[in-house]
Amino acid sequence: MLPELPPLSMRPEEEYPDKEIFFPQWQCFCCQDTGKVQPYLVRRVVRNYNYSSDRLPVCQRDNCKANDTWVNLPIENLDTRFTRDICNELDLLARDDWEATRQAWFEMAKQRVEQSTGEIAQAHNLRRRDRIQAEFILAKEKHHSARGDWEEIKDSDEEGQE
Ligand SMILES: [Zn+2]
Repeated sequence: MLPELPPLSMRPEEEYPDKEIFFPQWQCFCCQDTGKVQPYLVRRVVRNYNYSSDRLPVCQRDNCKANDTWVNLPIENLDTRFTRDICNELDLLARDDWEATRQAWFEMAKQRVEQSTGEIAQAHNLRRRDRIQAEFILAKEKHHSARGDWEEIKDSDEEGQE
């Protein structure tokens, strides 16, 4: 007969799977390190911005090196109106958006864990209840069979009029 061994975990269980929650590692959230201001951010400044036909919005955020890619393009293909100040502000906006998204994900993950923990506890209680019920029935059967009359017990007599 095989022994029953408990599982051995590589590392202690984490209470919440927050490591699974994605948070981008871009240096620049304004352009996501592409040098192009992200379209959804462009639209906060140019409401009717058209990604496929409008000039390429060059990111000019502080310390953003990604725009090196685009400086060799003809100037008439570039939209250079996204100044340092605008890009810095868009970067902060995008970071806030991502933080909010991460919070929402975290809450969702937390709820999932709590929900499944609740379900396990509930299943456990149900099993426990079933067992108690089974024991109760068995005890009753024994009791009545000791009296020699259990076969005559009707449903309505279940609560036992002794
Ligand atoms: Zn940038």
